[in-house]
Amino acid sequence: MPLKPEYKVTLLGAGGVGKSALTLRIISGQFTPSYNPTIEDYYRHDTNVEGVGQCIVEILDTAGTEQFASMRQLYINSGDAFALVYAIDNLDSFLEVKEIYQQLVEMKKPEELLVILVGNKCDLKSKRTVSTQEGIQAATQMKKCPFLETSAKDGTNVEEFFNTLVAAVDKKARGD
Ligand code: GDP
Ligand code: MG
Repeated sequence: MPLKPEYKVTLLGAGGVGKSALTLRIISGQFTPSYNPTIEDYYRHDTNVEGVGQCIVEILDTAGTEQFASMRQLYINSGDAFALVYAIDNLDSFLEVKEIYQQLVEMKKPEELLVILVGNKCDLKSKRTVSTQEGIQAATQMKKCPFLETSAKDGTNVEEFFNTLVAAVDKKARGD
């Protein structure tokens, strides 16, 4: 029996966009509405990912402290793949993922950079301030990375987002 592959996935983005809610939805399949932006959490998720099979995904749910560039550098150095999360009702959080992307580009070699752009809280349709089109456009500028709108609340695209990112890391680990 070969060892299960292990991949490190890191969620980055402004406080309050739903990184923890997405992480908990992935881990437990449920929406946990609690909100404490200062807590960083780390999970070892033993799972079966479509197109990948059985694997262990280490998920780092980062905290608000990544505003300090040095903290973010640590996160970036240790991750294999990154979810850049904003909330569709928060324009500032959309601008912030673009900044984080710039930092990723500065720190990672182009062939090492694996990113997915995630517009969370897509259930909040009436509060939307970032259009789907703007999300698509930003992803195109981020070297055509995958883009999905998700809702940790109702579950929309959460599994798809996770599977897409893990499948991309797996593909890279196998030498494309
Ligand atoms: P984090 O700081 O990025 O980890 O954000 P949290 O996961 O703590 O979520 C911040 C707040 O947004 C909490 O009140 C959550 O209940 C809420 N929230 C998270 N995801 C969603 C979502 O998809 N839809 C809605 N409506 N609220 C969400
Ligand atoms: Mg959090």
